[in-house]
Amino acid sequence: MTKTLEKTTGQQVYHNFIDGKWIKSETGRTFASFNPANLDEVVGHFPLSNANDTKLAVDAAHKAFHGWKHTPAPERAEIILKAAYLLETRKEELARNMVREMGKVIKEARGDVQEAIDMAKYAAGEGRRLLGMTTPSELRNKFAMAVRVPIGVIGVITPWNFPVAIPSWKILPALVAGNTVVFKPASDTPLVAMQFVEILNEAGLPPGVVNLITGSGSEVGMPLIEDPRVGCISVTGSSVTGRRIAGRCGELMKRISCELGGKNAICVMEDADIDLAVDGALWGSFGTAGQRCTATSRIIIHEKVYKQFADKFVARAKALKIGDGLDPKVDVGPVVSKSQLESIHEYVEIGKKEGAKLLFGGRILTEGELGKGCFHEPTVFGDVKPTMRIAQEEIFGPVTALIPVKSFEEAIEVANGTEYGLSLSMYTHDVNRAFKAIEEFESGIVYINAPTIGAEIQLPFGGVKQTGNGHREAGTTAIEQFTEWKSVYVDYSGALQRAQIDNYEGE
Ligand code: NAD
Repeated sequence: MTKTLEKTTGQQVYHNFIDGKWIKSETGRTFASFNPANLDEVVGHFPLSNANDTKLAVDAAHKAFHGWKHTPAPERAEIILKAAYLLETRKEELARNMVREMGKVIKEARGDVQEAIDMAKYAAGEGRRLLGMTTPSELRNKFAMAVRVPIGVIGVITPWNFPVAIPSWKILPALVAGNTVVFKPASDTPLVAMQFVEILNEAGLPPGVVNLITGSGSEVGMPLIEDPRVGCISVTGSSVTGRRIAGRCGELMKRISCELGGKNAICVMEDADIDLAVDGALWGSFGTAGQRCTATSRIIIHEKVYKQFADKFVARAKALKIGDGLDPKVDVGPVVSKSQLESIHEYVEIGKKEGAKLLFGGRILTEGELGKGCFHEPTVFGDVKPTMRIAQEEIFGPVTALIPVKSFEEAIEVANGTEYGLSLSMYTHDVNRAFKAIEEFESGIVYINAPTIGAEIQLPFGGVKQTGNGHREAGTTAIEQFTEWKSVYVDYSGALQRAQIDNYEGE
């Protein structure tokens, strides 16, 4: 295997991974990945691949499927477990490259890799479960059961904000279930995606079981979706992207799982521990510079504690240290790219025009070293109305909206009042309210006295409404999207037995 990924020198040219080898794209074209903390730093050059490269990857995955499917699941799982240990060994290296590629602060980048380690161990355990079911037959001398079978080639399309964790949520359960994979990572984070695949390869995956192609959604993603040999697409991205892909997969009758945008909220009731809520809201709003699908972009506060909360929250936001995520003292890193910076700032302007009160922040930071990168001030809007665009649309940056409400019931209504349904949180000391919130929140994930971020891999992950199309990643649900059910009847009576007929004859 080529060792091109061991040292990252910045100007290095990387290749696609197809059929167990790093190979050049036939286009010869490349794109650069930049460090968002300093756009002068090029992390590397990556193939701008096309439909032919994608076809080669699907060829390899398709060819490898038969052998991988017939490899016993516990044996497949051993390879995944080995990958977990290799990830542990290279955790710091991956985390540091992640900071260089997409900007999150180093402790969060370590957490991102840790999530993949957790998922690898969990998926490896699944190799000795992959549970099917048995159930009694209505006829004598007949056995009824259902078993899980792999789908075939899975197309994995991922975003840049969790560049190791999200691919691991998809690829590892898909592999343990016996599928092969063609992986198209986001163009902002190709290096760590390649390192993840390199680790899977080192762990012992046979050639063709995992393949990686870099390039755009239209030139690589779409051909992957169109290829009839790809049986399932698993995509995480914006709702616009998800809708487009799901629409096409619908026409092709192809299985599609979408994990999409969010407009998550923390509700702070008058009986809450305000300091705890401020801690949670700060982490939820500005962790990963607000670029998490579960980021807290709305804080819905009971009017009795609104001022107290707002004063404390703004004071804490002002104290956040902004800079290069590799500096361990930094709280908030850059956003991923110049275009993301501009899109976030546009929302700040929209918020001002809508009449929301800018309590803190609102600026693109250009002073000193920060001017070389994509830094946006943590931004807090106050007196936000639930119908304003900044309270409805996903901003995906360090911008949060404080929304005053008069009651618990109004808080629930406002929390539910967007098209998204990923993560909602309630801060209260009243156990009745806590359980009512659990019942009433329209979201795939609920937190009580904790912020909207912080999912663990052993529970299902995903959302309702425009956030997804009904699937869940992680937990025991992870393998659902990557397996088909096969129902099996074994008749050992030696005679033709007709269900619903013979056993009712003579009634
Ligand atoms: P994006 O939608 O721009 O891109 C996601 C991936 O889809 C990329 O690999 C991209 O190249 C690919 N893509 C885009 N158009 C395509 C097309 N027409 N055909 C095939 N592939 C295509 O999203 P992003 O900016 O990378 O990520 C941010 C978004 O992801 C946010 O909306 C965020 O909420 C969402 N997200 C959701 C979850 C979740 O689990 N619900 C988790 C993380 C991020």
